[in-house]
Amino acid sequence: MIKNIIFLGAPGVGKGTIASLLSQKTDLIHLSTGEIFRAAIRNKTKLGLELKNIVESGNYVPDEITNAIVEEKIKELNSKNINFILDGYPRTINQANFLDNLESANISKVILLTAPNEIIIQRLSKRRYCPTCSATYHLDFKPSKKINLCENDDTLLLQRKDDEEESIVRRLEVYNSETKVLVDFYKEKKILIEIEATQSPEEIVNYLLKQK
Ligand SMILES: [Zn+2]
Repeated sequence: MIKNIIFLGAPGVGKGTIASLLSQKTDLIHLSTGEIFRAAIRNKTKLGLELKNIVESGNYVPDEITNAIVEEKIKELNSKNINFILDGYPRTINQANFLDNLESANISKVILLTAPNEIIIQRLSKRRYCPTCSATYHLDFKPSKKINLCENDDTLLLQRKDDEEESIVRRLEVYNSETKVLVDFYKEKKILIEIEATQSPEEIVNYLLKQK
């Protein structure tokens, strides 16, 4: 049975969907960095308050704060014997080293989800949103019943600047160069599993469930 794991994968690769599905079929909880941050702020922990100041002043959250908040969460889960899927952390080699030295983390596998750029571009460039109510759609996976209008309020659906092909290509380049060091780090530790995310989320999860 897989224990604490890390999910790595470019935007648009389906990481969130796969992690949620895996979490439903196991007792692993899905920990995204965004969620951990929001919880720390909500619970007004000392670190949460510090984080709130940084975020509100529009500054970049330094590694030391991110690490400390993740550590706080992992220690809490560890004391309750709860295993987790980390999604969105680590992002830098500093964070990976920190996690590696954290005894309570004890990462068993790192799952790298990959897909050819053309597939990611195709998926992301078909996303649409409603500027009035913020509802999101996808031309293939979640089309609006009113074609190019929002189902809630008939507003014309738009594409985010970020989801235009050129921006996607740029985001993928940044992601790939940032992630390469992490991939090498975990390859060296022999805990990296690379999976083609062109299979369905169900197939991927079934494959993961068979891992020791
Ligand atoms: Zn709407």
